[in-house]
Amino acid sequence: MIVVLNETVDPALLQRFQISCNARVLVDGQRRIAVTGSSVTELPVEFKSLEKESFAFKSDIQLADSTYVRRRQFRIGDATIGDGKSTVVIAGPCSAESREQVFRTAQHLHGLGVRFLRGGAFKPRTSPYTFQGLGVDGLELLREAADHFGMQLISEARDASHIDAVIEQADIIQVGAKAMYDQGILRALGACAKPVLLKRHFGATLQEFVQGAEFVLSGGNGNVILCERGIRSFETKTRFTLDLCGVAFIKEHLNLPIFVDPSHAMGYAYGVPDLSRAAFAMGVDGLLIEVHPEPARALSDASQQLDFNEFSDLYQTLEQLAPAVGRVLR
Ligand code: PEP
Ligand code: MN
Repeated sequence: MIVVLNETVDPALLQRFQISCNARVLVDGQRRIAVTGSSVTELPVEFKSLEKESFAFKSDIQLADSTYVRRRQFRIGDATIGDGKSTVVIAGPCSAESREQVFRTAQHLHGLGVRFLRGGAFKPRTSPYTFQGLGVDGLELLREAADHFGMQLISEARDASHIDAVIEQADIIQVGAKAMYDQGILRALGACAKPVLLKRHFGATLQEFVQGAEFVLSGGNGNVILCERGIRSFETKTRFTLDLCGVAFIKEHLNLPIFVDPSHAMGYAYGVPDLSRAAFAMGVDGLLIEVHPEPARALSDASQQLDFNEFSDLYQTLEQLAPAVGRVLR
């Protein structure tokens, strides 16, 4: 349960509550709260003087539950994430590969009005024998390009060993699908103030996915974005299966912004525009789309990246759709 604490509480009593109910005390927005597991559904009488208000839950989805806070929103640059009206477009290559590739892509996107640049430097590859990313050099390159074009940068941390570098350089820290369960990353991100984009592991239920976000939220960082990027099903004709039912569930029951990544879900460029428009029409808070100057030569995820023309066409149709679906493209 979540107990919103009174402005003045007896510190010794609070400490006893923490010990007896395994409660964690943190500041969430304007409120100082204590969070216990969801098995606690009522505050024991001896602790009642601590409580201003409290919320009980059926599961350990608590800080992300919309009955506690209807909507979490926050600003990144000049965009508000999660305001219920804006859909942010994040685009860029799967991996930073070279200065030329990163700058050409950023220039093209900036020319269209895209404000958020993506690119991986620490790639979580399925095989150890494929391109693993440029590491710190790639991160610095992406930062330089983002600064040059006045864009916000999102880049992923593969594991906790380089999390500090990613926190320092990126404006949004991406936790990839395979790292969704990495508690070293989740705990480090809970302790920082930067926005986090948490991707759903392809084998994770919605419960497990959101509980991953609860690790960051309960660490004291309320700036968490969920990203649906496809789950594994019996289907093999597409890379993964985009769970738009899960997106609808998240919109209805949770307070976290939800983004959709059609590129990794589909695995093939041809399906990315349709999936982007479908997700946009659903009113997602953001789209994460892979774009590369020459997709066929990409060092990772070559089959799913859009080339510049394909992305321009898609972006134009999103602009046309925006008024019809009541969204503002950011
Ligand atoms: C990526 O965004 O390039 C990526 C590796 O995505 P995912 O973690 O969803 O596979
Ligand atoms: Mn990729």
